[in-house]
Amino acid sequence: MRAPGSARLPTMAREFSKVGVIGLGTMGAGIVEVFARNGIDAVAVEVDDEAVRKGRGVLEHSTSRAVSRGKLTEEDQAALHARVHFTSSMDDLADCQLVVEAVPEHLDLKKEIFGKLDAIVGPEAILATNTSSLPVTEIAVATSNPKRVVGMHFFNPAPVLQFVEVIRTVVTEDEVFEDVKALAIRLGKQPVIVGDKAGFIANALLFGYLNHAVSMFESKYASREDIDAAMRLGCGYPMGPLALMDLIGLDTAYEILDTMYKQGRDRLHAPSPVIKQMVSAGLKGRKSGRGFYTYAEPGSSQVVDDALTPKSAGDSGIALREVRTVGVVGSGTMAT
Ligand code: NAD
Repeated sequence: MRAPGSARLPTMAREFSKVGVIGLGTMGAGIVEVFARNGIDAVAVEVDDEAVRKGRGVLEHSTSRAVSRGKLTEEDQAALHARVHFTSSMDDLADCQLVVEAVPEHLDLKKEIFGKLDAIVGPEAILATNTSSLPVTEIAVATSNPKRVVGMHFFNPAPVLQFVEVIRTVVTEDEVFEDVKALAIRLGKQPVIVGDKAGFIANALLFGYLNHAVSMFESKYASREDIDAAMRLGCGYPMGPLALMDLIGLDTAYEILDTMYKQGRDRLHAPSPVIKQMVSAGLKGRKSGRGFYTYAEPGSSQVVDDALTPKSAGDSGIALREVRTVGVVGSGTMAT
């Protein structure tokens, strides 16, 4: 007789035709879009009807933009939306072959959700968390069968970035992890396999840098615009660190840093105090309409003038000076 939770999983690769996504915030709505764009039916779950309405709005906005840019036909847009079933009931996930959880970065909440999910989905279904930093193993043991739990860490924005970290715990079944890897490839993403350590690869490297940028801003060492310009224009990054913090969400960034700091005790990850202060004041970044920058409305990417950079700033001499003559000292790599 097998011990509870040790039921054998099928050896044939799973066909994913219906998946679930729980939480339709910054990440979840984009993950739903990724599945639906690739012909997979998606059950999209939020806490209540209002949150469902918001999640649907994000998907509509994103696909309409793709249509206006000629990247999606209206026909394909309609087909994509027909593949998504929005709901506030987790019971609707019963016949999904995979469920990706994308709720806020709180261990207790994720464990509670996995505990519930376990009793809703069939025995072959895979349960994945999109956590950025929390221990996947601890989330897995909240279920009766931790072997079918993996991390499936999409990047922000999920429909755009072609990368997924697949996190394998010490108990993840080989087939589970192989099937998730194959699915990531089918979704047009490059999967990498990582162990269960806070921050995995990308965030382990990224968050010390982001935190450092925040502390420069906090100590008034440089303005937000100059910090961001240094990394965009000087280092060729697609966006500056403070703009990136706003995109990630300051509440999520705080939780990620805090988890990484508690796990590794590296000072680099001790969250700069201003992050928590801003979160407490509701300045969560783009999602709330204000973070390091101010946005046209919650969820918008359009930066508008604010007290730190009033409209008149450019007219009163703060604008970049035109440089006509420069001197170069030295003759190394950069002097040419
Ligand atoms: P978010 O706060 O933007 O969205 C979370 C959503 O989950 C909210 O809409 C909320 O209403 C919903 N939710 C909360 N409890 C729920 C429940 N019980 N059932 C259904 N929905 C529920 O958070 P986010 O930034 O999208 O982060 C989600 C996860 O993805 C986190 O684990 C985070 O670490 C990870 N992640 C975030 C980013 C990023 O850049 N923001 C990138 C990669 C991974």
